[in-house]
Amino acid sequence: MKFKITVLPGDGIGPEVIEQAIDVIKLVGEKYDHEFEMQEALIGGCAIDAHGVPLPEQTLEMCKNSDAVLLGAVGGFKWDTLPGHIRPEAGLLGIRAGLGLYANLRPAIIYSALKDASPLRPDIVKDGIDIMVVRELTGGMYFGDRGRLQTENMGEAAYDTEQYSVLEVERIARLAFETAMKRNKKLMSVDKANVLESSRLWREVVIKLSAEYPEVELSHMYVDNAAMQLVRNPMQFDVIVTTNMFGDILSDEASMITGSIGMLPSASLGKGTLGLYEPIHGSAPDIAGQNKANPIATILSVSMMMKYSFGLDDVAKEIEDAVVNVLNKGYRTGDIASEGTKVVGTKEMGQLIKDEITGAAK
Ligand code: NAD
Repeated sequence: MKFKITVLPGDGIGPEVIEQAIDVIKLVGEKYDHEFEMQEALIGGCAIDAHGVPLPEQTLEMCKNSDAVLLGAVGGFKWDTLPGHIRPEAGLLGIRAGLGLYANLRPAIIYSALKDASPLRPDIVKDGIDIMVVRELTGGMYFGDRGRLQTENMGEAAYDTEQYSVLEVERIARLAFETAMKRNKKLMSVDKANVLESSRLWREVVIKLSAEYPEVELSHMYVDNAAMQLVRNPMQFDVIVTTNMFGDILSDEASMITGSIGMLPSASLGKGTLGLYEPIHGSAPDIAGQNKANPIATILSVSMMMKYSFGLDDVAKEIEDAVVNVLNKGYRTGDIASEGTKVVGTKEMGQLIKDEITGAAK
């Protein structure tokens, strides 16, 4: 099969980790006989330097005309003093909105070989954790009506509005049910239905939709309890679906229980199969250009791309297995190294993963 991928390396360690990911894409293309056509474009600080804006029109057009987009990271000290709308990070919001991506999928996985990296006790982590947080990305309080007003007795006030429509909840819930069907068929919908009207609507819609997915075991949890349960007993979760704001907080909490920012990929999806795939970490200017960055989050983002945009589950699994094998053999980049492990650089880690895929690994 043939697929077109727009690659946006971005700034800092972005180009370094993307280089390894591109190699992996080429390799699996050859091995599985798929044609991955790749074209690069600018986003973030490098786009500001070249065109004065973080998301040039041409970049967005190229992404729209692709089957998937792979992004490294954006940002750096150089652009930190620019006004908000021309900061590198504005390019990220622009591309998500421009591509109509309303769902963010963030797996939080603790691989057995890395369980020491988790801040949780070994008896809680056991043999590893594998949670998928599905966050609504374009609705709720971050996009609702907001403003300032004068109150009668309490002076100046400010407000933000949490609003969700049936259609908005339905489309994110559907995606979450579909995701659960591809995993362990367990879905936890997180809301605050004991207090918020928008959460009561959220819950009604999710329950109604569950009739279409009888195989999925659906449960509900209030967000305050979910925040506690994630550290008390994370193994109870498979897929979590929640609103934009609750998802913002819970997905970061879930990431942190893995203890390794350089390991975590993400996917942002919308209508159809076009998706944006990126590591959750930033541009790490403190280690940029030093061959120290962990490329695994970006390589696992490629694995998500194969699965969610291209439906190539076998290729996705090959990439994941290659990563797990390298970890099990004791190789680590500096960020995940521990006593007795073999520390390697960005390029070497990429090569070890590629060797697993070609079968050249020892
Ligand atoms: P960061 O994620 O870049 O770095 C946090 C820490 O984690 C640093 O010590 C860094 O060295 C380390 N780290 C991150 N990724 C790593 C990797 N792959 N391998 C090894 N170590 C890694 O977050 P920050 O320092 O808060 O932000 C730096 C810049 O990145 C800022 O300009 C910020 O705005 C931007 N940022 C971009 C994105 C994105 O592109 N999606 C996300 C977050 C932050």
